[in-house]
Amino acid sequence: MHRLYEHNDIAVFWDSDKCRYAAECKKRSPMTFDPVRRPWIDLTKAPAEEIWDAVSACPSGALTIAHTHEIRVEMEEDNNRSAAYAGDRMIGECNYNITPSGWVIYHTGVDQEHGGKGIAKRLVYKVVEVAEKSGGKVIPTCSYAAKVLSE
Ligand code: SF4
Repeated sequence: MHRLYEHNDIAVFWDSDKCRYAAECKKRSPMTFDPVRRPWIDLTKAPAEEIWDAVSACPSGALTIAHTHEIRVEMEEDNNRSAAYAGDRMIGECNYNITPSGWVIYHTGVDQEHGGKGIAKRLVYKVVEVAEKSGGKVIPTCSYAAKVLSE
């Protein structure tokens, strides 16, 4: 399971397949990471520095974190994509087709000037989260998406 949580300037990624439930995150930021709450991660409950510290202490790599850089990432199911915006300008997208076999992610791209900010990963996680919640299997034919989902 892949989940993306965003609040103010931070985006937190969680990959449940890697999570060892050792709760190092909860020890460092108990209000943010609460395994009995749904959703179990709530970025509104603690300062960004505390959350950053907790994510950095995750021993398994299940949690990762990035700044949002004031870039919005939105799901646009009518267009079969997630899209990233700087103000009104679209600066990246992750495209998919829903097939009988599953959600085929075939392209992810971000404008070069916005590279290295974690935006492409947010785009992929956005699509995967929605696909997983709808019970769809994710099939990444895009090499970037495949890398994100296997790292
Ligand atoms: S610290 Fe990482 S591995 Fe441990 S419970 Fe939290 S997310 Fe899972």
